Amino acid sequence: ATPMALLVGTARGVQLGILIKGPQILESTRRVDTIVLDKTGTVTSGRMSLAAVVPADGEAGAEVLRFAGAAEAGSEHPIAAAVTAAAAAAEAQALAGVGTGAAATLPALEDFASTQGLGVQAVVEGRLVLVGRPGWLAEQWAVELPTELAERQAELEASGGTVVAVAWDGRARGILSVTDTVKPNSAAAVAQMRALGLTPMLVTGDNERVARAVAAEVGIDLVRAGVLPSEKADVVRALQAEGRIVAMVGDGVNDAVALATADLGIAMGTGTDVAIEASDLTLVRSDLVAVVDAIRLSRGTLATIK
Ligand code: ADP
Ligand code: MG
Repeated sequence: ATPMALLVGTARGVQLGILIKGPQILESTRRVDTIVLDKTGTVTSGRMSLAAVVPADGEAGAEVLRFAGAAEAGSEHPIAAAVTAAAAAAEAQALAGVGTGAAATLPALEDFASTQGLGVQAVVEGRLVLVGRPGWLAEQWAVELPTELAERQAELEASGGTVVAVAWDGRARGILSVTDTVKPNSAAAVAQMRALGLTPMLVTGDNERVARAVAAEVGIDLVRAGVLPSEKADVVRALQAEGRIVAMVGDGVNDAVALATADLGIAMGTGTDVAIEASDLTLVRSDLVAVVDAIRLSRGTLATIK
């Protein structure tokens, strides 16, 4: 394609809400045959809400939520946003009931740290609080869920929940389930990708049950679940090793390496700065139909004007 055609294509992209880093990127867009989609915030809205609090025997649900909310206040993850908002709302309601009129605040946190794709830790009221993947608490912290909580975890995951464990002072205190919804256009976008001959795949750090449920809802049959942030790029490389030309679509800090590794990195406009910087294209409206528009645009521009 001529430089002029590429510039025209780039300008048309802007009209479609697709920000293209450089005109030459339309060339790699045109060659893509496989589209790897991150789940949370890409296929789903990423606005999670708290669906259940299950305390361990002898614990109070309100306490579990309060400590988890306080620890998660240090994180920007969608799970953290859901837990902190629910905890703050519960505190406000409890205070209103007492009639103090005092501003509801969660306890302060100290020594916060997060581990990408696994969970968070913080000291709250002198206790070391952990919130994260049950497997991370078990392997990294030797905190196992009691049988009754492990059973509830399986039930909540079967109904589409993302379950995190809450522990302090070395003991599991409860589990929380958060849920997310598929974006309105995701299924239509996947259907259009297939119509263009593209192969969609879902990749997520979330559990297998949730990943399968979301994939089924939007019409994807290739799923990689439980993938650590560092492993998302490995998924892309394995597809490239099969000779595929891979586009990766994501929004999170945890997607950045995979976005940079892919032949074409596509970031959601609502995504983190790190994801946008690692990408070749940014979708202003964070709507997956724009991925299809970008591919149509690249094929059209590059096929007709030579
Ligand atoms: P995705 O690939 O869907 O964007 P992530 O890699 O961000 O998911 O997270 C994977 C898993 O790690 C989550 O399902 C959760 O179990 C755990 N996790 C990550 N961040 C947090 C957090 N701030 N609080 C609790 N759990 C977390
Ligand atoms: Mg994401």
